[in-house]
Amino acid sequence: DGHPPFKNDAMIDFTIPECRTAFPAAIAKIRETAGGRIPLFINGKDVQTDDVIPTTNPADYSEKLADVCQAGTAEIDAALEAADTAFQTWRDTPAKERAECLMRAAELARERQYELSAWQVLEIGKQWDQAYHDVGEGIDFLEYYAREMLRLDKPRRMGRAPGEHNQLFYQPKGVAAVISPWNFPFAIAIGMCSAAIVTGNPVVFKPASIASRVGYNLVEIFREAGLPDGVFNYCPGRSSVMGDYLIEHPKVSMICFTGSMEVGLRIQNKASVVQPGQMQCKRVIAEMGGKNAIIIDDDADLDEAVLHVIYSAFAFQGQKCSACSRVIVLDPIYDRFIERLVHACGDIKIGRSENPENYMGPLADVSCQKTVLDYIKIAEEEGTILLKREDIPAEGAYAPLTIVGDIKPEHRIAQEEIFGPVLAVMRASTFDEALDIANGTRFALTGGVFSRSPEHLEQARREFRVGNLYLNRNNTGALVERQPFGGFKMSGVGSKTGGPDYLIQFLDPRVVTENT
Ligand code: NAD
Repeated sequence: DGHPPFKNDAMIDFTIPECRTAFPAAIAKIRETAGGRIPLFINGKDVQTDDVIPTTNPADYSEKLADVCQAGTAEIDAALEAADTAFQTWRDTPAKERAECLMRAAELARERQYELSAWQVLEIGKQWDQAYHDVGEGIDFLEYYAREMLRLDKPRRMGRAPGEHNQLFYQPKGVAAVISPWNFPFAIAIGMCSAAIVTGNPVVFKPASIASRVGYNLVEIFREAGLPDGVFNYCPGRSSVMGDYLIEHPKVSMICFTGSMEVGLRIQNKASVVQPGQMQCKRVIAEMGGKNAIIIDDDADLDEAVLHVIYSAFAFQGQKCSACSRVIVLDPIYDRFIERLVHACGDIKIGRSENPENYMGPLADVSCQKTVLDYIKIAEEEGTILLKREDIPAEGAYAPLTIVGDIKPEHRIAQEEIFGPVLAVMRASTFDEALDIANGTRFALTGGVFSRSPEHLEQARREFRVGNLYLNRNNTGALVERQPFGGFKMSGVGSKTGGPDYLIQFLDPRVVTENT
């Protein structure tokens, strides 16, 4: 198809001086444009509303990044109407042309990678490298799904019966509602939107409220990439006003959601009820939460394990669906591991993410802060606090990095997703018991094992039942194509993002048989 093979966007290297100077420059540049009003984008046009919500910097609430117009039900009607109209031509637009739009979008994102990253630093308190790699993942999704669509575009001859020709091919499903979380506000949002768009399904996109300025980056990119009117519509809004309305709307053919289990289950429930005028069963793809564990075997390399557990649990303040929130340590090594972990975490620098010397920053929003502080209270009741870093800025959405020991499998701290810098430590007397504990939640997203025993690593491959398992490395940062990402059980329904089965979900297969 004339495209070079897929290659992941390169990791940023801060030993290169230009990479270090580019960030403050990009942050200063976007600050100049910040604070204005962000319209909706429907049918290729900006749409203003009276209802706006400000989006602010969680390190300093006085810094407003934008006033974001909010879609009500009338705007959702208009967006779905536009998407439905666009579908009539977009469905038959050659896959190659649709893929080219994604390639152009990837190019635009690459040109602006620092500025796109800077918005995340300011809007949700992401660290420089974390933000840069979020944008890099978004670029990867665009590049990968473009190529995947070209692969799927070839009709397949089925069987070899004489006198008969059977052909299998795919068609798009219809209008997609895309609902994204705030924690990978560019990557996940553009990943879901681009998958829908390249397969021929126009999108009505609702970003997470607290990351809607980053969500607007998609408008800036897709508009310039030259998508026809109505193929991509940006509709931030209050879930209480337009959430159910969008899900239940008869014009919606599929819902592509990433977020919490609670909201994901609600969406599946609402989407299953057939509405007057609805012509098809809605497909729901819902990527949901995790309660991810890392097992530390008694022969683990502790230098490695401590470092990787810290990164898995506390990078971006633990606000990743893949983050480690339970560490299960084999008895003989328990005290040594904990001592080193707690000691190392005592030194972690916490403060504004704008300053690259800080390893941890504020939580993404005051609401996230409240949830995490409530869970720390529960941790104090259920277990023994081994570390609680209260030396954090008083202003802004900070929460103490917390490590809690003596947590038992039935504790809430061992079962519920906290989504913050709170790590539960659990003790196991055998590797079998460690696996039982690891598998003993409703979730099945990521997991990790540190061990030098080939038998234990082999056993973990078979019996540690999660979507993405990592052996002797951290358990976050899955890369498009190399580590297709996603879980099962209550961690979600749907096939892995950034993998070969993802786009199929946006398509309906057809077979034509001709008697020859
Ligand atoms: P959330 O569930 O609170 O919100 C996700 C999105 O759903 C937001 O856009 C929100 O506005 C919207 N929403 C909320 N109520 C709705 C309703 N009634 N109808 C329609 N839309 C509604 O999640 P969050 O706090 O934004 O993100 C964190 C969660 O996302 C965590 O649970 C995390 O594990 C999960 N997550 C999962 C993956 C994955 O790939 N499995 C990736 C990232 C995040």
